[in-house]
Amino acid sequence: MEIISQKIKSASLKVTPQRIAIYKALYETKSHPTAEMLYNSLKELYPTMSFATVYKTLTVFKKAKLIQELNLNDSSFHYDINTDFHSHLVCTCCKSVFDYNLNVSFDVCEKIKDETGFIVENKQLYFYGKCRKCQEY
Ligand SMILES: [Zn+2]
Ligand SMILES: [Zn+2]
Repeated sequence: MEIISQKIKSASLKVTPQRIAIYKALYETKSHPTAEMLYNSLKELYPTMSFATVYKTLTVFKKAKLIQELNLNDSSFHYDINTDFHSHLVCTCCKSVFDYNLNVSFDVCEKIKDETGFIVENKQLYFYGKCRKCQEY
């Protein structure tokens, strides 16, 4: 709990019980939930928390770079507490999202800049396919 309020504080944000609850829910999952999924998982414990609050808080966290937003080509954004660069494996069957640390031996952004002059400000890498579970059916 202490770590979570510290994190929020270090991003110069006001620490509120709702912000702690939302950050903690993201902290404890590896499933890269959408705002809707987070809301559904929180509403039992925090019946007064509205969907709008969850959504707004995620936007605030994103702006403060506490979380990253993933666009997986489905209807809503997914959220990830891990803001370090890592790629994602996305199952097109069950929509599960897995982290994958792809080790690239050179700095891709430097290479792009050298070759094209383009300055990369943000990067996302997704691999789409079928997870182990979905391959069984
Ligand atoms: Zn799957
Ligand atoms: Zn991730």
